[in-house]
This record gives sequence, C-alpha cells and structure tokens, in this order.
Amino acid sequence: MIVLSSSTIAAISTAQGAGGIGVIRISGDKALTVADRVFKGVNGRSLSEYKGYTAGFGHIYDENERIDEAVALVFRAPHSYTGEDVVELSCHGGVYITKQVLRAVFSAGAVPAEAGEFTKRAFLNGKLDLTEAEAVMNIISAQSRSAARAALSCKEGGLSKKTDEICSALIDTSAHISAWVDFPEEDVPELENGRLISDFNSARAALNALISDYDAGKAVTQGIDTLIVGKPNVGKSTLMNLLSGCERSIVTDIPGTTRDIIEETVNIGNVILRLSDTAGLRETDNIVEKIGVERTRKRLEECGLIIAVFDGSKPLDREDMELLELVGGTPAVAVVNKSDKEQLADVETIRKYIPSLIEISAKNGEGLTLLAENVEKICETQNFNPSAPLIANERQLFRIKTARSAIDECISAIEEGFGLDAVAVALNDAIDSLLELTGKNAADTVIDTVFETFCVGK
Ligand code: GDP
Repeated sequence: MIVLSSSTIAAISTAQGAGGIGVIRISGDKALTVADRVFKGVNGRSLSEYKGYTAGFGHIYDENERIDEAVALVFRAPHSYTGEDVVELSCHGGVYITKQVLRAVFSAGAVPAEAGEFTKRAFLNGKLDLTEAEAVMNIISAQSRSAARAALSCKEGGLSKKTDEICSALIDTSAHISAWVDFPEEDVPELENGRLISDFNSARAALNALISDYDAGKAVTQGIDTLIVGKPNVGKSTLMNLLSGCERSIVTDIPGTTRDIIEETVNIGNVILRLSDTAGLRETDNIVEKIGVERTRKRLEECGLIIAVFDGSKPLDREDMELLELVGGTPAVAVVNKSDKEQLADVETIRKYIPSLIEISAKNGEGLTLLAENVEKICETQNFNPSAPLIANERQLFRIKTARSAIDECISAIEEGFGLDAVAVALNDAIDSLLELTGKNAADTVIDTVFETFCVGK
C-alpha cells in the first residue's frame, strides 16, 4: 500500500543557469500557506484568496528582506499537475536568485522535493499512468523532433491505450475461463480451444508488433551507439564535421537520469547517432595497431552501428582489409569517400563485407542524404511513425516480453492438453505484467525505481 506523504514539497523546476525566468514549484496541502509567507502581492491580497488558474504580481521576501519580484500562479487541487494545491513562483532566472527564493520557501515550511516527486504525486493522484509519467522524462531529454513527438505521444497515453486494449481482451478471456471453470452449473458459453488459441495469437501479434518497433524507436528517440572508423586520412574528421554541421549537440550527464555520459550526438535522417567514443578513434593513427585486434573487435562488436570510411581515390590496402575483417556482424555502412577524385578503390570487395555502401565526397559536402537513407534502412526507421504507440524503455520492454512469454505458455497449455486451470494461471501472469506496465498494480519498489530516475523539480 502506498502512503502519500502529506508534506508540502518545493523545488526549482527550471534548468539551473542564468535565464530570463526561474520557476519555483510548491505542491501540497500547505502550498498556498507557504507561498503566502514569502510572496506579498502588490494588490495586497493573499494567495489563499485566489481561485485556481489565476496569477498575481508581487515580491518575494526572505524574513523581512525583499529578494525579488515574482509572478505567482495558483492551481487548486485537483486541477494541477500533481493533483494537489500548487503555487508556481516565477522569479528572475539565475542560479543565485532561484536558490534564495527556494531557501525562503523552505524556511516558510516546505520540504525539498525528492527526484521526480512532483510526477510521482501526479501518478499517485491518478493524473498520469506509469508509462505517461516515464514519457515526461523522455520529453525533457528529447534531442530531436521525432524523439520529442514520440515522447509526447506516449505522454498522451499512446502506449497505455494500446496495451490496455490488449489487456482488456485478455481480462475478458480470463473472466470467461473463471466463469466456465468455477460455475459449471451456470449457463456459461463453452470455450473452444480453437477460439482461445486465436484470441491468444492476436494478443501475441499485437505485443510482437510493439516489441519489433522497439529497436527502431530506440534509434530515433535515444540514439544508437556509433563508431566512425577507418585508417588515417580517409576523411573521418571531414565526415564528422559534415555530420556535426547538420545538427550538433553536446550532451553531458543529466543529473538524476540513468543515461550514460555521451560526448556528442548528431542527427542523421530520423536517427540519432551517439558518437560516444569518436575522439579516440578519430585521433588514433591505426586503431588496430594502437589498441590491439581483440579490443578493436570488441569495441566494434559492442557498438550499435559502424560507419567504416575508405579513401575511394586509392586502392584498398592491408589496413582497409584488416578493418573489413573486423566488422563482423555489427550493422555497418561503408562510406567510400573522395568521390570527387579519380576512383581506384575496389568497391565490390568492400561490398562483400559491408553490403550497405555509399560513395560520397565529404569535402564537398556531397552524399549526406545517401548516408541518411542507408542509416535509416539499417536501423529500420524509414517508416517510423513517432505518433504510433512505442515502448519507451527497458522496463516497459521487459513487461511486454514477460506478457508475451506468458501468452506462449497459455497456447502450449492448450495444445498440450492441460486443463483450463493451467491456462488461467499463465493468462493471469500475462495480465499482471501488462497492468504493471501502466502501474495499475505495480509494487511500490517498481514505482520507486521509476521515479528515482526523474530530475528533482519535474
Ligand atoms: P582522417 O584522418 O580520416 O580524419 O581524415 P581527414 O578528415 O583529416 O582528411 C584527410 C585529408 O583528406 C584532408 O586533407 C581532407 O581535406 C581530405 N579529404 C577529406 N574528404 C575528402 C573528399 O571528399 N575529397 C577530397 N578530395 N579530399 C578529402
């Protein structure tokens, strides 16, 4: 049983840094009382007299010292983000001033919000389900238009609507089985094995569709770990600069999230390439000599995508062949560069190792569209629809795969002639897993894990 703390919490909800506006959010039973202790409106009215969805202009005080001007926005329970009384104080942005205001709010009786606590309260108060709450984090950390659109669609319940649909069909079947088994004397319609198997197969197909879109969705929303490799002077840095020129974002660790520290990401087509290790490989002369064959092989194996660069104006040599031998089963695009010069490289040999091959001139900025098309094809994102229901993280994937295994058990139980009791047990496991997905009966630990990954103030 989850016990909702009745304390009134506060945190800075905007990014920490110099900015026009900084917002301090206060939520809980005493939000208005706390805000009244620090905010004095120019109209002389206290915020406790305000209706929901109204704003007032005034000043923030710490004890008797006036520390800033602010606009106070009042939300009345349950019509707020958290479902509780909320006051948002918009003061001047800036690290010092927002912290001063927050300190004043704490002195007035609020306690610091834990990571993700506003969103957790919204979930506990039924304003969001678990997948929608997770989507809030993905909207905040989105690095491309497609990623933001996918997260917004999830926030609006895209995934939970789809899984609820699958789940309610399974609940109907489960109820039918219970009725048939437990009340044989009643006039319950008979359950035919063929009908049951067909129902389970449709649930399985729907879950499979979600699972198979996951990798493509991940390439679009979270990015794919990519290595740009090739011997010296083939044009890796030139290609990197070309890619960076499109859209470059330096991403640092976002406190409170589980993301790795990544050096930089670039968007190509609708895919995000996470170039986590490029510096090392770009600057090294011969990567194989420098870090050894086994380590190179391991790095190439572990990444999600290899962009292998060759100099088209020269015949392939030993180093090029070494690289081709190392590519192995990792998805790869061969970039034969310097197409503006006379071509001497044997592209058919490269193609034998890496079927996805393009010829470009990085120096002249030619070939990016081709590269984008090939990357999208390899990541299977050409037809990616960010508005379709999409699994957003490993937790959700695990729940959906667990449900699918349980449905497989239902099908085997019927095929192998076990009784309906056995089918019912496996079926209930599938239902439980889908309910956990949206948090409808998730254990406290699952909920805590989800919310611990949030930024404080969100
Ligand atoms: P890296 O060592 O693989 O990073 O190679 P660089 O990007 O530093 O490029 C090596 C040399 O090749 C530089 O002089 C580049 O200007 C040149 N280069 C790169 N791309 C092209 C291209 O598409 N065409 C031509 N003609 N030269 C290029």
